[in-house]
Amino acid sequence: MSGWYENAFRRVLFPAYETGLRRRHTLDYLDSYQRDQWLAPEQIVTLQWQRLKRLLEHCEREVPYYRRRWRELGITAADIRSLADFAQLPLLTKADIRNHFDELTADGWRGRLPTKATGGSTGEPLRFGYTRESNDRRTAVMWRGYAWAGARMGRRTLFLWGGAVGEPSRAHRLKDRLHNAAFARRMLNSFHMSEANMAQYADAIDRYRPEVIVGYVGPLVRLAQWLLATGRRPWRVQGIIGAAEALHAFQRDIIEQAFGCPVFNTYGCREFMLIAAECEQRHGLHVNADHLLLELKPDAGTTDAHGEVVITDLFNYGMPFVRYANGDMATASGERCSCGRGLPLLARIDGRVLDAIRTPAGHVLPGEFFPHMLKDVPGLERFRLVQRRLDRLDLSIVRGRDFDDASEAYIRREVDKVLGGSVELHCHFVDDIPLTRSGKQRVTVCELPP
Ligand SMILES: [Zn+2]
Repeated sequence: MSGWYENAFRRVLFPAYETGLRRRHTLDYLDSYQRDQWLAPEQIVTLQWQRLKRLLEHCEREVPYYRRRWRELGITAADIRSLADFAQLPLLTKADIRNHFDELTADGWRGRLPTKATGGSTGEPLRFGYTRESNDRRTAVMWRGYAWAGARMGRRTLFLWGGAVGEPSRAHRLKDRLHNAAFARRMLNSFHMSEANMAQYADAIDRYRPEVIVGYVGPLVRLAQWLLATGRRPWRVQGIIGAAEALHAFQRDIIEQAFGCPVFNTYGCREFMLIAAECEQRHGLHVNADHLLLELKPDAGTTDAHGEVVITDLFNYGMPFVRYANGDMATASGERCSCGRGLPLLARIDGRVLDAIRTPAGHVLPGEFFPHMLKDVPGLERFRLVQRRLDRLDLSIVRGRDFDDASEAYIRREVDKVLGGSVELHCHFVDDIPLTRSGKQRVTVCELPP
């Protein structure tokens, strides 16, 4: 779309839909985040530290939960003089938030804090509070990150996304339609996607002619596979943003092949919105370090750059999450991006902590093993592994043309190598693997009692 629409959007349409102070704030935040991204890495570290200190002082003064916890531990905010000190603070878990919801609400916000809920692919629902300011800031950070992939505010964008739960009212649907039209975007509900209606999704893309597509990775891959299998060339978009799920290299290849455009990886979660995203260089994901603090907590005994993701949002003063472990794993990158942005890089997101597989002998195999091993199997399109008994694994496979006896033999050999003969592997060839209720694909599932 031409530049005039983007300009008009910023000056006229966006302000018309975001009322009063909010619109001004979001655009102001966007301007300042746009500036911050070009600061030198050391300057961003300093900025982040100032913001963190201010948040910790607020937590001590205003948030009963941290006041009490830190007192019990004999810590004050003034004792935290470095990130190393900060890393000694306890983690905040989903259970902590559920059990101490009121206590985590800042004094000045009690009884008037908006809340959101998340289902989470770990199946642990969570409700949390946020201030409008922090939400406006998150929106601004999201626009900044999407712009790196070419999806600037006001560009014609199609979302392949999960729809609202339940049946929205007619008034609500009309409001959504107006809103989406003003924002130059269209929503396609990925929850309703099946082999039978893929053509309708492709038709919708051709009709809408988006400049950018933003979608859940799983549905994007399925649509891409269908396009390749049927030989259909869709409307040529300039870029595709994968969101909400880990994007593996083989999935990126499939989507790029089908759509003929670059695919960008992003990383976020409902609790914080966008955490990191690839810029036009696609050399890792830039962390929004001027807006949040991301730590990687390595496994005990290791010091490598790989670990569990721990996040502190620097601006949600209504219900601050200090060192929240969201259940994801990631790997840091020591490199600097040639784009010149000072925001640090993650080499990759290793996705949700997939369920580990257990054996009768007490061996625990990390869930990441299966996507890693199966990505090399020719003709394997999708899979889902479920363990319901200690001595049995059920592997559902959607086969492509290249899948043959050798593929299955390879899988059995590799599983045997790590599990020995103690676990029986049952392969099931299926036509489809339905997405889970959240619209995401959870690929390794252990249903044994803990
Ligand atoms: Zn970059």
